[in-house]
Amino acid sequence: MLEAKFPEDPLPLLEINVDDTSHIALRDPQNCLLCANKPCTYICPSQVFEWEEEALKINYSRCVECGACQKICPENIIWEYPRAGYGITYHY
Ligand code: SF4
Ligand code: SF4
Repeated sequence: MLEAKFPEDPLPLLEINVDDTSHIALRDPQNCLLCANKPCTYICPSQVFEWEEEALKINYSRCVECGACQKICPENIIWEYPRAGYGITYHY
């Protein structure tokens, strides 16, 4: 049986030109306190969202622009593509 192997952290395989301002924001951080399961912390394949000390930390520099967070929390996550010249480049 063919077994797929993934590196622990796939980001070194990608190229991300990180802007100095985030392309991800929250409409209201208080909403996250009331969010029971905090699905953004496990739906994001790149661990952009982390729950730390009663607040949501957004590691926007890790974003691989997959769009999953927009599907799971359109009410509170504001996501835009990074500015031109920034963001991810995929090498196939
Ligand atoms: S961003 Fe959305 S899914 Fe994530 S903790 Fe806040 S309300 Fe919940
Ligand atoms: S677009 Fe994808 S990689 Fe970027 S923060 Fe949302 S879920 Fe994570």
